[in-house]
Amino acid sequence: MSEKPLRVVVIGGDAAGMSAASQVKRRIKTAEVTVLEKTEDVSYGACGMPYNIGFRGNINDLVVMRANDFKEKRGIDVRLLNEAVGIEEEKNKVVVKSLASSREYDIDYDYLVIATGAKASKPPIEGVQNRGVFTLKTLNDARIMKEYINERNPKRCVLIGGGFINLEMAENFRRLGIEEITILKRKEALMPEYEEEIDMMTKEELKKNGVNLVTGIELKKINESLSVETNKGVFDSDIVNIAIGVKPNTEFLSSTSVKTDKKGAIDVDRYFKTNVDNIYSGGDCALIYNRILKRNSYIPRGNNANKAGKIAGANIAGANEEFAGVVGTSAFKCFESTIGKTGLSLKEAQNEGYDAFKTVISAQTRAHGYPHQGKITVIFITQKKTGRLLGAQMIGDETVALRVDVMATALYSNMTIKDIQGLDLVYSPPFAPVWDPILVCANQAVKKV
Ligand SMILES: Cc1cc2nc3c(=O)[nH]c(=O)nc-3n(C[C@H](O)[C@H](O)[C@H](O)COP(=O)(O)OP(=O)(O)OC[C@H]3O[C@@H](n4cnc5c(N)ncnc54)[C@H](O)[C@@H]3O)c2cc1C
Repeated sequence: MSEKPLRVVVIGGDAAGMSAASQVKRRIKTAEVTVLEKTEDVSYGACGMPYNIGFRGNINDLVVMRANDFKEKRGIDVRLLNEAVGIEEEKNKVVVKSLASSREYDIDYDYLVIATGAKASKPPIEGVQNRGVFTLKTLNDARIMKEYINERNPKRCVLIGGGFINLEMAENFRRLGIEEITILKRKEALMPEYEEEIDMMTKEELKKNGVNLVTGIELKKINESLSVETNKGVFDSDIVNIAIGVKPNTEFLSSTSVKTDKKGAIDVDRYFKTNVDNIYSGGDCALIYNRILKRNSYIPRGNNANKAGKIAGANIAGANEEFAGVVGTSAFKCFESTIGKTGLSLKEAQNEGYDAFKTVISAQTRAHGYPHQGKITVIFITQKKTGRLLGAQMIGDETVALRVDVMATALYSNMTIKDIQGLDLVYSPPFAPVWDPILVCANQAVKKV
């Protein structure tokens, strides 16, 4: 008698979900893997959306693999426009609504993966649903925004929120020819997770590029004309983008015993298993193990979602892989500046009880005398007692991203500032000076330990 095939249902068809589905199928060819996706898109690079908009690219260029290809090449049953509306945990069933026919049906599983991502938060004010007011989270959000831009050819925009998405959008809206760009921000700091030196330099970059940044804003309403009313006046606009953070898509779990934190992010162990034995989760809907804090954090990022999905899928297929953890690495571009971070900021380190200090240096990114020079500011956060590196941040030319990666590797390996001082880094005039900016910062930091 042949054994029954393993039935795996994955809810959500992007980074975490498709990674999990592919991994199960790769390891167990006979597994019946079904992916439920409520939109018409799977497996796309949301991170590329600001540039796809700015460079007027084809939206389909962001799709890595289509639903049909997953079916034909990998044998995964991808069901588009099918939304999971509930889970009957005791019966191992997902309640699904077909958005095309409004029909509801059940699907049985041996293992379930929740990879539903997060939704963009909106401020609780009138007018956020007006035509011309956007949030950018799914591929369809980008599609609709592009159609609107083609139709209206906006000349003024208001960006609500000053995190990396709107900073990328400022650059890309300018690329589209939008001259008047205003960023409205509630707090003084653009990015509270960054040191004030980096925040100040980012503000200078915006100013240099003619972006009007207004902080201390309380929003009142968005009118149909798209003017935004605030405590500091009315800001006229032809297009509005809201990027003020995200919230995990986990409301449909409310009648289950799957544990979430206050924000609604699913709690998982280092195998990406939830508190329910046959339910796994990862990506923007879930927490992830933070290697520095030695506990879970909420870090909704594409690199994390892909890893989480891959390991969850492997473990469902019997791999027993323990996740090593993330250190919180990211970088983004804002006009001519690249800004990046890994690990903890000084405030985050102090809040965790570390006696920490910060070291700030500015340096050139290429050898003295080389014609094309770049600048970089490097900040290290170090534990005083042990000299252990706790975090690094940088702003400067495009070399920032790779130098942040070096620091992420150092953090991953629990290196001290003395270890970093001893690193054998490249010296080559077009790429790095004889004392790489990382070594310059380490030389300074080591004096304070
Ligand atoms: C503009 C922008 C730029 C970004 N840039 C970067 C970057 O440079 N680097 C980086 O690391 N990260 C970046 N990110 C974040 C990154 O895109 C996300 O972390 C990543 O997409 C998360 O993947 P995920 O699979 O967990 O969730 P998602 O990509 O959100 O996918 C979840 C899927 O689940 C579906 N779904 C939700 N609920 C249900 C349901 N009940 N039933 C069926 N389907 C459901 C959704 O429709 C969606 O397709 C960016 C994000 C945005 C929006």
